[in-house]
Amino acid sequence: MEALVIHAPGDLRVEQVPTPELGSDQLQVRVRCGGICGSDLHYYRHGGFGTVRIQEPMVLGHEVAGIIEAVGSAVSGFAAGDRIAVSPSRPCGLCRFCQQGLQNHCLDMRYYGSAMRNPHVQGAFRQQLVVETHQAHKLADRVSDGEGSMAEPLSVALHAVRRAGPLLGKRVLVTGCGPIGALVVIAARRAGAAEIVATDVTPHPLRKVLQVGADAAVNMAEQPDALDRYTADKGYFDVLFEASGNERALTGAFNALRPRGIIVQLGLGGEMKLPINTIVAKEFDLRGAFRFHEEFGVAVELLNKGLVDVKPLISATLSYRDSARAFALAGDRTQAMKVLLSFD
Ligand code: ZN
Repeated sequence: MEALVIHAPGDLRVEQVPTPELGSDQLQVRVRCGGICGSDLHYYRHGGFGTVRIQEPMVLGHEVAGIIEAVGSAVSGFAAGDRIAVSPSRPCGLCRFCQQGLQNHCLDMRYYGSAMRNPHVQGAFRQQLVVETHQAHKLADRVSDGEGSMAEPLSVALHAVRRAGPLLGKRVLVTGCGPIGALVVIAARRAGAAEIVATDVTPHPLRKVLQVGADAAVNMAEQPDALDRYTADKGYFDVLFEASGNERALTGAFNALRPRGIIVQLGLGGEMKLPINTIVAKEFDLRGAFRFHEEFGVAVELLNKGLVDVKPLISATLSYRDSARAFALAGDRTQAMKVLLSFD
């Protein structure tokens, strides 16, 4: 079978890779659709992010949906022909964090398409995949393969919303309106947020967040003082979801955040310099949010029941053989949100 293998920055190749054996308790999946994530883009453009670098060729990809081709002899509950979204989260299940229900902090995580460990964990941008049954979540007929591949980033957003605590009736600010920020808007609305304001510096994603339910979208490049109106009486918003990884987006929101406000940081970036005095004096609660685990099942259930609509965030679907064009488009914030690869 063929797979999309990254060798070095800008060097992404369609290559033959061996098909793994199907174990008795596993599923063989024909991958049909895969979403290009920010981390895939980082590997493609820079060979990694933070301190993580590609040390050896690695199949990219972790946001995929497909159709079951064969089931192992001991498998029940799945059959050939079932359409599924595949969770890329593969914790060990045994370590102390797995035992505590904190699988995203597993000491032996094998998350698809990640160079965080050596040898690297090969990814899911390939024609065939053998998965464990716990990774497979059936898709309803109403959910397209493309929407199914959005279950993964939606899970990230649901996990972030869970990290924030109850959102019922809360005023929410989302900084950074890429696919993750936009999915946080969807997840926060679903969780009962009363008002959601989103910021970015590019018009296209701002139009998209309005389409998926934000009450207001602010272009901070055109209106750098736009958050000033929310600063009276020590700040307006109860919760900030920071999805840009930009220091100015984070600290620029501090005056608009009320005392005891909760900050959920999802965006990854370089080092940031933070005004600790403000965090202390306003008693902000600064929380990270990283990946997900059981939220994947919730994401698929919400999609299956039609309780969330991710379609406005899908910008284009291109063949995996056209990956250079697909990755260029995925990196162009002026016109693209989520770009999907077709493996048909
Ligand atoms: Zn573990």
